[in-house]
Amino acid sequence: MTRTQNIAIVGAGVAGLALAILATQQGHKVNLFERGSTVSSVGAGVTLWPNAMFVMQQMGLERELMRMGGSPDMMRQFDQHGSLQTEFDVLAVNSLCGFPSVTILRRELMSAMAGAFERLGGKITFNSSISAADVMKLGKDFDLVVGADGRMNSVVRQTLYAEEITPRYHGFVNVIGVAKPLTAVPDNVIYDFRGQGQRFGIVPVNDGGCYWAGAWNTSADKERPKADLYAELHQRFHDWPEAVKKILLTCDSASVSRVFVHDIDPLPFWHHDNVLIIGDAAHASLPTSGQGACQALEDAWHLTQLLNQTDNLEIALQRFYQQRHIKTSSAQKVGREFATKIFSEQPEPLLPTSNISAVELSRFWMQGLT
Ligand SMILES: Cc1cc2nc3c(=O)[nH]c(=O)nc-3n(C[C@H](O)[C@H](O)[C@H](O)COP(=O)(O)OP(=O)(O)OC[C@H]3O[C@@H](n4cnc5c(N)ncnc54)[C@H](O)[C@@H]3O)c2cc1C
Repeated sequence: MTRTQNIAIVGAGVAGLALAILATQQGHKVNLFERGSTVSSVGAGVTLWPNAMFVMQQMGLERELMRMGGSPDMMRQFDQHGSLQTEFDVLAVNSLCGFPSVTILRRELMSAMAGAFERLGGKITFNSSISAADVMKLGKDFDLVVGADGRMNSVVRQTLYAEEITPRYHGFVNVIGVAKPLTAVPDNVIYDFRGQGQRFGIVPVNDGGCYWAGAWNTSADKERPKADLYAELHQRFHDWPEAVKKILLTCDSASVSRVFVHDIDPLPFWHHDNVLIIGDAAHASLPTSGQGACQALEDAWHLTQLLNQTDNLEIALQRFYQQRHIKTSSAQKVGREFATKIFSEQPEPLLPTSNISAVELSRFWMQGLT
């Protein structure tokens, strides 16, 4: 190991917690600041594809997450009348990658990661909303300051750029939630129903429940009451296939939230001096990429590796961008292409899940890992 670094991390989301765990395991000293009073469980659930599970294994969390989460075998895409369009063999990609895919509720993922950090003796400083002035001070007090403060209003990202970085809206809302045990669908299949400019996804997790998302093209009206959007969700999807109807009937309305989905354009740099951004703050992608949290986890692993390879922080941070920006830009591009296909005013009549082969996908996901 090279010199022990004193690291300040802003944001205890997926990226911040993963870095806190991995860096602590490598003997670095970590201070983790979170503006919330607890780790955030915003969002319903997340699918951790094999590249994410590789990082989870490095953190010692692979088995725990496999026990807690679901293990999808297949992803099936239907039209809005329930007619099967394509299927995607998840087990085949898992086998090519050498790691499983796990579906998990967001609150369970965050609690497992926070628990792992605590077991290492780490402590999260909650209710600590870091300002731009704080970032400057942290930069003097610590060897490295890492902004893992998310996509929309990253304070750390803004300290790196003279001009304002404005997240980009792509014209669709996601209404998301958690539902009780399903009898309408087998629990090893991810369901993706698509209509013109709208989509409903159902992702089983292992307690027989699931998380789900209904999405459609609309303007980003943030003033619109949640109840109103919820009513529109029912009106749009009430006559969709049985599994969708079942979700609408059984979903826990307290778990429902809405996201007007934004991403950011690829950025030309992610650090200045000893201040760096990772995760969504650096390269937020649309949920249609399925890779936001997975790439945030990869960032944490790569950064820790680089810190252990050299004492020269500038070189480590330059290499971090060189190693990561092509893959993360690709994920951003894929997310936008899918979103355009599904949610544009004139979506393509035939809506394939993907024409990428299992081999190509496994190569992309595992690129740069192991
Ligand atoms: C609907 C939806 C579905 C998704 N599904 C998937 C999926 O299936 N698979 C996948 O890989 N990805 C998915 N994603 C993307 C994934 O959720 C994000 O990419 C991931 O959460 C990014 O992690 P992060 O740690 O960078 O940011 P975040 O998870 O946003 O965490 C940022 C943290 O920083 C804290 N913070 C912010 N500002 C400050 C401050 N000034 N001071 C202190 N703390 C601060 C916040 O409170 C938060 O805890 C989805 C996203 C959405 C919207």
